[in-house]
Amino acid sequence: MHFDTLALHATHQPESTTGAVIPPIYLSTTFERNEANELTGDFTYTRPNNPTREALEHALAALEGGAVGMAFGSGQAATMTLFQALRPGDHVLLSTDAYYGTPALLEQVFHPWGLTYTRVDMTDLNAVESSIHENTRVVWCETPSNPMLAITDLLSVSRLAHEAGAICVCDNTWATPVLQRPFDLNCDVVMHSTTKYISGHSDVLGGALIFKRNDALAERVRTLQGLSGAVPSPFDCWLISRGIKTLGVRLRSQMATAQLVADYLVDHPAVEHVHFPGLPNHPDRALIQQQMNGPGAMLSIQVKGGAAEAIQFIGKLKLFTRATSLGGVESLIEHRASVEGPTSTTPVNLLRVSIGLEHAEDLITDLAQALA
Ligand SMILES: *Cc1c(COP(=O)(O)O)cnc(C)c1O
Repeated sequence: MHFDTLALHATHQPESTTGAVIPPIYLSTTFERNEANELTGDFTYTRPNNPTREALEHALAALEGGAVGMAFGSGQAATMTLFQALRPGDHVLLSTDAYYGTPALLEQVFHPWGLTYTRVDMTDLNAVESSIHENTRVVWCETPSNPMLAITDLLSVSRLAHEAGAICVCDNTWATPVLQRPFDLNCDVVMHSTTKYISGHSDVLGGALIFKRNDALAERVRTLQGLSGAVPSPFDCWLISRGIKTLGVRLRSQMATAQLVADYLVDHPAVEHVHFPGLPNHPDRALIQQQMNGPGAMLSIQVKGGAAEAIQFIGKLKLFTRATSLGGVESLIEHRASVEGPTSTTPVNLLRVSIGLEHAEDLITDLAQALA
């Protein structure tokens, strides 16, 4: 099946008793037992499991081609639960250019608790190899990276991880399963912030972990998910499932617009640099063509000048909303260094852009007047 068909059918299970094409949202927190004290279905209590959440989890596993999917209340809750499955003394290898919340969890929560971690440039395979130690359990990749859109060679990094007995996790939030299939590149776990492209409308927070195999790690994470309850509500699960139905069409349209916007900006005299995987001079062009089905709809722009020029530019925009986050139907722009705070290493003239579903010509006209 092609992705679009799968996205529709994985989220489409008409309800058998009423024939409702769209199944109801099961808000119930608890499930009845019969006279013999037996449960009538597969559910007991909503923290460990709920029909609406289970439908979403099956769909997430199907989209990535994994054995099991688990839904969480946010991307960060998903990441946190994976790290909770490790033991004090274990080591995590993480990219220098990663979503800032991932190292923040390692530093502020798991370091005091006994996990160690190292940050490395994941595009440098020699550095990756020499940073994997005998206690390394997880090599955490994020590609394209945030906010520099660097590309990690997932096949090579997962090989290095496996040689050392570690697993390779891929944060696939930016690429989505439409563009990148980490399990085909030998990764073991896929993480998503479903807040972004998967739900797609900037109206629900969610996260996911998908496991290639239903192994001991997957079982441990399932136990932690049920024990902690860091899960999305049934209504949130339903919204995320609804978003999945249009993921392919949204992303392809957003990606085509992102290409036009990037092509326009790259030649603009007020722009110093455009980071976008679809540009012919991207340093990882060959790797992008090998491991992705397209460049995605995220780009970063470095304007000429510093923070003042960058902030002045976005202040003049009319169609781009100045806000953090990404993957919704409306175009967003943000001065990343301001969001990341004083420890940020992001260039101060960098603006991160999430392209939405507006018409490309209108977005380019808006950028032109703001850069003039
Ligand atoms: C947003 C994001 C996260 C965190 O997800 P939340 O849903 O905000 O907790 C993790 N990784 C990437 C790449 C993200 O963009």
